[in-house]
Amino acid sequence: MNAASSSLLTKILVVDDDDLVRSLVSMALEKAGFHVEQAQSGRQALAVFEATAPDLVIMDVMMPGLDGFATCAELRQRPDSALLPILMMTGLNDHESIDQAFNAGATDFITKPISYPLLKHRVRYLLRASAAMSRLHESERQLANAQRIARLGYWRWSRGQEHLHLSAEVCAVLGFDTATPDIPLPVLLNFVHEEDRSHAWQWFTRVCEHGSSQAINYRILDARGVLRHVRQQVETLFGNDHCPLHLYGTLQDITKLCQAEARIRELAFTDSLTQLPNRALFKDRLGEAIKLAKRHERLLALLFLDLDHFKRINDTLSHRIGDLLLQATAERLRESLRASDSVGRESIASLEHDTVQMEYDIARLGGDEFTVLLPEIRRCEDAAIVAERIQMDLSRPVVLETHEVFITPSIGIAVFPHDGNDPETLLKNADMAMYAAKQQGRNLYHFFDISLNETALQRLAMENQLRKAIERHELSLHYQPQLDLLSGRICGVEALVRWQSHLLGSISPADFIPLAEETGLIIPIGEWVLRTACQQARIWRDTGCGLSRMGVNISVLQFMQPGFPELVAQILEETGLDADTLELEITESLLMKDPDGATRTLQSLKMLGVQLAIDDFGTGYSSLSRLKQLPLDRLKIDKAFVQEVNTRPDDAAITTAVIAMAGSMGLRVIAEGVENEAQLRFLKAKHCDEIQGYYLSRPLPVDQITALLHHHQQTTKN
Ligand code: C2E
Ligand code: MG
Ligand code: MG
Repeated sequence: MNAASSSLLTKILVVDDDDLVRSLVSMALEKAGFHVEQAQSGRQALAVFEATAPDLVIMDVMMPGLDGFATCAELRQRPDSALLPILMMTGLNDHESIDQAFNAGATDFITKPISYPLLKHRVRYLLRASAAMSRLHESERQLANAQRIARLGYWRWSRGQEHLHLSAEVCAVLGFDTATPDIPLPVLLNFVHEEDRSHAWQWFTRVCEHGSSQAINYRILDARGVLRHVRQQVETLFGNDHCPLHLYGTLQDITKLCQAEARIRELAFTDSLTQLPNRALFKDRLGEAIKLAKRHERLLALLFLDLDHFKRINDTLSHRIGDLLLQATAERLRESLRASDSVGRESIASLEHDTVQMEYDIARLGGDEFTVLLPEIRRCEDAAIVAERIQMDLSRPVVLETHEVFITPSIGIAVFPHDGNDPETLLKNADMAMYAAKQQGRNLYHFFDISLNETALQRLAMENQLRKAIERHELSLHYQPQLDLLSGRICGVEALVRWQSHLLGSISPADFIPLAEETGLIIPIGEWVLRTACQQARIWRDTGCGLSRMGVNISVLQFMQPGFPELVAQILEETGLDADTLELEITESLLMKDPDGATRTLQSLKMLGVQLAIDDFGTGYSSLSRLKQLPLDRLKIDKAFVQEVNTRPDDAAITTAVIAMAGSMGLRVIAEGVENEAQLRFLKAKHCDEIQGYYLSRPLPVDQITALLHHHQQTTKN
């Protein structure tokens, strides 16, 4: 049933000029369940073939016009007919016709007179063989395709043969014409890259002795001289004598894979900005260097560099310039180390009468942190020489686009084995030494010493205590008065936070404010300061102190919090303080970080009615013209300038210029840190509006400042 139904779908073209034979053949096949098309001549056969695409053709060889041979040859030319079964009908013992039929591309023949009962079996057999052939062809085609895509080919060798037989794909991998598929074994080995040859040879020998083995990867220089990476796999078939009888090998071109791997490795281990090794690779190399130093019992130094005030460059001149600076730093470091290679050598040579190549490795760990590894030093001083050289080279101004930038590094040095035995400890300790260098004034280098650990522990302790400072009521505010020079009256106070830790004692804001900023604790602390200062200002107003301004310092992080203006509004509402009594002191750096965002926040604050002052003016990068566009009320000249107005002409000039220009822009100016009469006189002469400083009063706790304000009010009234 199945055979019959599948036969139904099978189309057979019967071609014969003899009507009787054609009809009988057709009938026999139809009876067997085939669908039959007929043609009386070669020409007609070609037309019917085109129209019906039969699965099999049965054809007489002798026909007038186009005979069977010519028709058969024609049919074979048609696309997709390569595997078409063509059965030729010849006369009995007509050997010549049979040969001719095969030459014309016939698949098989039957002789006349035809045995009709057997015909169907013959046809079925042919169809089955043809289907198997098609499947085989298809799978060969797929295999060849897969091999081509995978760049995978095979070769084989048999005992007694001098040559290897190579598949087309192996020939392509070796850069050969496919026309030369056989080569002697030594020729194959000649393709192997010199450096890999002995390894590959040993591997081949092993495979011949033991049968199969793990695949091997090696490089070849192909027939065109192109370097390729290949993967070789071989299986050995042994004869009864236990000697190799056949070798079957595959060869795969894995060049692309190797290139991709190399690229991935490069991406994973180099810093894309500077092309220096990154932290992961550096740690690896440090680990290796430590092992070597251990084995040879020698010293190794690790330099940890951090650029001073790099953040400020990023904030003020943009991240792009920051990136350029990091690239320039990497380049300078490379140059510097190339140069200090000889510096180091000279210094060592002069002492030891020995020339030693000073090796080094540079990496960027991230941000503005770089490391230098000196895997072999004679004395700790060698590391110091290199550090000094780096400092000198990096401190030279660098021009980035139109900006001339000055940057200095702080460097920490840790030496193996004194300061650590493993990469982590050495890195941590060098980092700590760098931190100490920064603390001592920047642009310095500092060797690690164990007491630095204590500093780190202290910072940690301070952070832990600071977290609890608000709830434990350890924070308080001191207030420093500000004097209006024209009227001679106290016009305002600045609130300055104080921390009396029950565990650590009194800590200066210069120490804990930066820590609070780093840890984000400045957010709750700042809010507490703002609320407390506003409450106090409200109390003074209610008790008739006549204070017109309360200055509060706002840190960058606080200012950048979304909803900061809303917080200010809420605190004003809560405390019932008039908005214009509150003055927020912000620093210049904040304006540079996100100028548009900062401007928007300043405008929202101004809408509330609060006053805005720029604190520590003169230490940042902002230009006065830029400030002009902002809704500001006051500039506070930094105390660094004020203190030297009578001793340094530069500072006097800057102070004078700031006062004059601010005046022309409608901004009021207050000078901070006025400590003596001479400074005051200078500022008065330059028409500075207000002053603040020890000369007038130190920052005072609330009861003392309250008394001072009352007293002042009494005296100025009278
Ligand atoms: P600042 O805002 O510039 O405050 C002025 C600093 O100069 C205060 O230091 C003050 O005590 C000091 N000073 C005042 N007059 C003189 C003087 O005549 N000579 C000298 N040499 N110094 C004088 P303080 O209180 O140690 O505060 C240091 C910095 O800590 C402040 O500088 C401010 O930036 C920050 N800070 C203080 N309180 C707060 C706060 O509540 N929030 C925030 N975010 N920062 C604060
Ligand atoms: Mg201030
Ligand atoms: Mg200040």
